[in-house]
Amino acid sequence: MFNLVLFGPPGSGKGTQSDKLVASYGLIHLSTGNLLRKEIADQTPLGLSAKSYIDSGKLVPDQVVIGMVDSFFDQHKGAKGFLFDGFPRTVAQAQALDELLTKKNTAISLVVALEVSEEELVKRLLQRGQTSGRSDDTDESVIRKRFSVYTQETSPVAEHYQLSGKFRSIAGEGSIDSIFAGICAQIDASN
Ligand code: AMP
Repeated sequence: MFNLVLFGPPGSGKGTQSDKLVASYGLIHLSTGNLLRKEIADQTPLGLSAKSYIDSGKLVPDQVVIGMVDSFFDQHKGAKGFLFDGFPRTVAQAQALDELLTKKNTAISLVVALEVSEEELVKRLLQRGQTSGRSDDTDESVIRKRFSVYTQETSPVAEHYQLSGKFRSIAGEGSIDSIFAGICAQIDASN
Protein backbone atom coordinates (compact mmCIF):
# COMPACT_ATOMS: atom_id res chain seq x y z
CA MET A 1 0.00 0.00 0.00
CA PHE A 2 1.03 3.60 -0.51
CA ASN A 3 -0.17 5.88 2.29
CA LEU A 4 0.34 9.62 1.91
CA VAL A 5 -0.26 12.35 4.47
CA LEU A 6 -0.85 15.77 2.96
CA PHE A 7 0.15 18.16 5.72
CA GLY A 8 -0.25 21.91 6.12
CA PRO A 9 -2.29 24.68 7.76
CA PRO A 10 -5.91 25.52 6.94
CA GLY A 11 -6.07 27.01 3.44
CA SER A 12 -2.76 25.53 2.27
CA GLY A 13 -4.47 23.69 -0.60
CA LYS A 14 -4.71 20.17 0.82
CA GLY A 15 -8.27 19.64 -0.44
CA THR A 16 -7.54 20.95 -3.95
CA GLN A 17 -4.39 18.88 -4.30
CA SER A 18 -6.09 15.81 -2.79
CA ASP A 19 -8.67 15.73 -5.59
CA LYS A 20 -5.88 15.73 -8.20
CA LEU A 21 -3.76 13.15 -6.35
CA VAL A 22 -6.69 10.77 -5.90
CA ALA A 23 -7.40 10.95 -9.64
CA SER A 24 -3.74 10.27 -10.55
CA TYR A 25 -2.73 7.66 -7.98
CA GLY A 26 -6.00 5.84 -7.20
CA LEU A 27 -5.71 6.46 -3.47
CA ILE A 28 -8.72 6.63 -1.17
CA HIS A 29 -9.23 10.19 0.10
CA LEU A 30 -9.68 10.40 3.86
CA SER A 31 -10.51 13.96 4.89
CA THR A 32 -11.60 14.08 8.53
CA GLY A 33 -12.99 17.60 7.92
CA ASN A 34 -15.24 16.26 5.12
CA LEU A 35 -16.33 13.29 7.26
CA LEU A 36 -17.19 15.63 10.15
CA ARG A 37 -19.15 18.01 7.87
CA LYS A 38 -21.11 15.00 6.56
CA GLU A 39 -21.95 13.97 10.14
CA ILE A 40 -23.16 17.53 10.82
CA ALA A 41 -25.27 17.59 7.64
CA ASP A 42 -26.80 14.22 8.61
CA GLN A 43 -27.42 15.55 12.13
CA THR A 44 -25.91 12.48 13.77
CA PRO A 45 -25.00 12.60 17.48
CA LEU A 46 -21.31 12.71 16.48
CA GLY A 47 -22.01 15.64 14.14
CA LEU A 48 -24.00 17.54 16.74
CA SER A 49 -21.20 17.20 19.30
CA ALA A 50 -18.49 18.14 16.74
CA LYS A 51 -20.22 21.28 15.45
CA SER A 52 -19.38 23.58 18.35
CA TYR A 53 -15.67 22.68 18.12
CA ILE A 54 -15.57 23.32 14.37
CA ASP A 55 -17.52 26.58 14.57
CA SER A 56 -15.12 27.96 17.17
CA GLY A 57 -11.97 26.83 15.32
CA LYS A 58 -10.99 24.19 17.89
CA LEU A 59 -10.05 20.58 17.27
CA VAL A 60 -12.66 17.86 17.72
CA PRO A 61 -11.47 15.51 20.52
CA ASP A 62 -8.91 12.89 19.47
CA GLN A 63 -10.97 9.83 20.42
CA VAL A 64 -13.89 11.00 18.23
CA VAL A 65 -11.68 11.53 15.18
CA ILE A 66 -9.66 8.35 15.70
CA GLY A 67 -12.89 6.31 16.00
CA MET A 68 -14.13 7.83 12.76
CA VAL A 69 -10.88 6.92 10.95
CA ASP A 70 -11.02 3.37 12.33
CA SER A 71 -14.52 2.84 10.94
CA PHE A 72 -13.50 4.46 7.62
CA PHE A 73 -10.77 1.79 7.33
CA ASP A 74 -13.37 -0.93 7.98
CA GLN A 75 -15.45 0.45 5.11
CA HIS A 76 -12.46 0.49 2.67
CA LYS A 77 -10.79 -2.86 3.22
CA GLY A 78 -9.58 -3.32 -0.38
CA ALA A 79 -7.89 0.09 -0.71
CA LYS A 80 -4.49 0.17 -2.42
CA GLY A 81 -3.56 3.19 -0.32
CA PHE A 82 -4.95 6.22 1.50
CA LEU A 83 -4.45 9.93 1.18
CA PHE A 84 -4.84 11.53 4.62
CA ASP A 85 -6.00 15.15 4.40
CA GLY A 86 -6.38 17.13 7.64
CA PHE A 87 -5.45 14.07 9.70
CA PRO A 88 -3.44 13.49 11.86
CA ARG A 89 -3.71 16.90 13.56
CA THR A 90 -2.21 15.99 16.96
CA VAL A 91 0.69 13.76 18.00
CA ALA A 92 -1.84 11.45 19.73
CA GLN A 93 -3.67 11.07 16.40
CA ALA A 94 -0.39 10.35 14.60
CA GLN A 95 0.46 7.63 17.12
CA ALA A 96 -3.04 6.13 16.84
CA LEU A 97 -2.75 6.18 13.04
CA ASP A 98 0.59 4.33 13.23
CA GLU A 99 -1.08 1.66 15.37
CA LEU A 100 -4.12 1.32 13.10
CA LEU A 101 -1.89 0.98 10.03
CA THR A 102 0.37 -1.54 11.77
CA LYS A 103 -2.72 -3.69 12.40
CA LYS A 104 -3.31 -3.56 8.63
CA ASN A 105 0.35 -4.57 8.03
CA THR A 106 1.14 -1.21 6.48
CA ALA A 107 2.53 2.23 7.47
CA ILE A 108 2.77 5.86 6.38
CA SER A 109 4.87 5.98 3.21
CA LEU A 110 5.36 9.73 2.87
CA VAL A 111 4.29 13.07 4.38
CA VAL A 112 4.25 16.12 2.09
CA ALA A 113 3.83 19.50 3.81
CA LEU A 114 2.57 22.54 1.89
CA GLU A 115 4.28 25.77 3.02
CA VAL A 116 2.18 28.93 2.61
CA SER A 117 2.54 32.34 4.32
CA GLU A 118 -0.12 33.30 6.88
CA GLU A 119 -1.09 36.40 4.89
CA GLU A 120 -1.82 34.27 1.82
CA LEU A 121 -3.71 31.69 3.94
CA VAL A 122 -6.08 34.31 5.41
CA LYS A 123 -6.73 35.72 1.94
CA ARG A 124 -7.51 32.25 0.53
CA LEU A 125 -9.77 31.24 3.43
CA LEU A 126 -11.84 34.45 3.36
CA GLN A 127 -12.20 34.02 -0.40
CA ARG A 128 -13.24 30.36 0.04
CA GLY A 129 -15.74 31.45 2.73
CA GLN A 130 -17.66 33.45 0.13
CA THR A 131 -18.65 30.29 -1.72
CA SER A 132 -17.93 27.25 0.51
CA GLY A 133 -20.80 27.84 2.93
CA ARG A 134 -18.31 26.95 5.69
CA SER A 135 -19.03 28.94 8.85
CA ASP A 136 -15.39 28.55 9.98
CA ASP A 137 -14.11 30.32 6.82
CA THR A 138 -16.13 33.53 7.11
CA ASP A 139 -15.02 34.91 10.47
CA GLU A 140 -11.41 36.16 10.59
CA SER A 141 -11.18 35.59 14.37
CA VAL A 142 -12.10 31.88 13.87
CA ILE A 143 -9.51 31.66 11.08
CA ARG A 144 -6.83 33.13 13.41
CA LYS A 145 -7.89 30.65 16.13
CA ARG A 146 -7.42 27.76 13.67
CA PHE A 147 -3.88 29.00 12.95
CA SER A 148 -3.01 29.15 16.64
CA VAL A 149 -4.39 25.62 17.13
CA TYR A 150 -2.31 24.53 14.13
CA THR A 151 0.87 26.04 15.61
CA GLN A 152 0.33 24.61 19.07
CA GLU A 153 -1.24 21.20 18.44
CA THR A 154 -0.63 20.24 14.81
CA SER A 155 2.89 21.44 13.95
CA PRO A 156 4.46 18.95 16.46
CA VAL A 157 3.09 16.20 14.15
CA ALA A 158 5.76 17.27 11.62
CA GLU A 159 8.48 16.29 14.12
CA HIS A 160 6.81 12.91 14.63
CA TYR A 161 7.29 12.15 10.92
CA GLN A 162 10.69 13.89 10.62
CA LEU A 163 12.02 11.33 13.10
CA SER A 164 11.09 8.52 10.73
CA GLY A 165 12.60 10.33 7.70
CA LYS A 166 9.23 10.41 5.88
CA PHE A 167 8.70 14.19 5.94
CA ARG A 168 9.13 16.52 2.92
CA SER A 169 8.22 20.22 2.63
CA ILE A 170 7.34 21.95 -0.59
CA ALA A 171 6.27 25.50 -1.55
CA GLY A 172 2.48 25.69 -1.50
CA GLU A 173 2.26 29.01 -3.37
CA GLY A 174 2.15 29.30 -7.15
CA SER A 175 -0.16 27.65 -9.66
CA ILE A 176 -2.23 24.61 -8.68
CA ASP A 177 -0.50 22.61 -11.42
CA SER A 178 3.04 23.55 -10.37
CA ILE A 179 2.32 22.64 -6.74
CA PHE A 180 0.78 19.37 -7.91
CA ALA A 181 3.93 18.64 -9.96
CA GLY A 182 6.02 19.27 -6.82
CA ILE A 183 3.98 16.77 -4.81
CA CYS A 184 4.11 14.17 -7.61
CA ALA A 185 7.91 14.55 -7.80
CA GLN A 186 8.13 13.72 -4.07
CA ILE A 187 5.83 10.71 -4.45
CA ASP A 188 7.71 9.39 -7.45
CA ALA A 189 11.07 9.87 -5.70
CA SER A 190 9.85 7.91 -2.67
CA ASN A 191 8.62 4.90 -4.64
P1 AMP B 1 -10.69 20.91 7.68
O1 AMP B 1 -11.79 20.74 6.69
O2 AMP B 1 -9.66 19.83 7.61
O3 AMP B 1 -10.08 22.29 7.66
O4 AMP B 1 -11.36 20.74 9.13
C1 AMP B 1 -12.36 21.64 9.59
C2 AMP B 1 -12.50 21.52 11.09
O5 AMP B 1 -12.88 20.18 11.43
C3 AMP B 1 -11.24 21.78 11.91
O6 AMP B 1 -11.04 23.16 12.18
C4 AMP B 1 -11.53 20.99 13.18
O7 AMP B 1 -12.45 21.67 14.02
C5 AMP B 1 -12.24 19.75 12.62
N1 AMP B 1 -11.27 18.67 12.27
C6 AMP B 1 -10.98 18.20 11.03
N2 AMP B 1 -10.05 17.23 11.08
C7 AMP B 1 -9.74 17.09 12.39
C8 AMP B 1 -8.82 16.28 13.10
N3 AMP B 1 -8.01 15.41 12.46
N4 AMP B 1 -8.76 16.41 14.45
C9 AMP B 1 -9.57 17.28 15.11
N5 AMP B 1 -10.43 18.10 14.51
C10 AMP B 1 -10.53 18.01 13.16
